[in-house]
Amino acid sequence: MEKLVERIKTHGNVLGEGVLKVDQFLTHQVDYELMKEIGAVFAERFQGSGITKVVTIEASGIAPALYTAEQLQVPMIFARKAKSLTMDEELLTASVYSFTKQVTSQVSISKKFLSSEDTVLIIDDFLANGQAAKGLIELCQQAGANVVGIGIVIEKSFQSGRQLLEEMGIPVVSLARIASLSEGQVSFLEGDA
Ligand code: 5GP
Repeated sequence: MEKLVERIKTHGNVLGEGVLKVDQFLTHQVDYELMKEIGAVFAERFQGSGITKVVTIEASGIAPALYTAEQLQVPMIFARKAKSLTMDEELLTASVYSFTKQVTSQVSISKKFLSSEDTVLIIDDFLANGQAAKGLIELCQQAGANVVGIGIVIEKSFQSGRQLLEEMGIPVVSLARIASLSEGQVSFLEGDA
């Protein structure tokens, strides 16, 4: 997605240890127009797959997931990272190791929102080693729901996430694919859309 790649070139900052900061449009301040276009691209790619729910993880997956859900006209569910006092019902739960925070946390979705009737599209802001996406897949599996695809805004292709997800047999669509972040420079591969 050319517009996204241009935005990363203009406003992305390479931090040490393979981390890209995109807080100008995605992970802190959010550009709704860009998110809306991202949502339209994901929806177009997965149109016809019978998706009934879009699933993401808080916080930065929510914006692209919501616009995707709007386009597909289905609900969006975000997995929570901390258990809220108001989550008094039964939960689906998985452990996720965070690449950026370097801690393992429990992520959960209320059982009442996912069932074996559901066909799910997972959306996330970044794909690094695939642990967040794997945790979301586990939540869907616990509910008996079918995951038909994963939409990623920015894939860091030099990390192992994509391979992990493809080995699970789930199609991955990444709008921007980053080959390397070495020496403070972002170099790109051809994106999937
Ligand atoms: P994974 O679970 O695939 O290893 O990492 C994906 C998660 O870690 C995403 O949900 C995202 O929040 C965070 N993440 C991974 N790499 C980066 C990065 O380079 N920049 C930012 N801003 N977040 C990242």
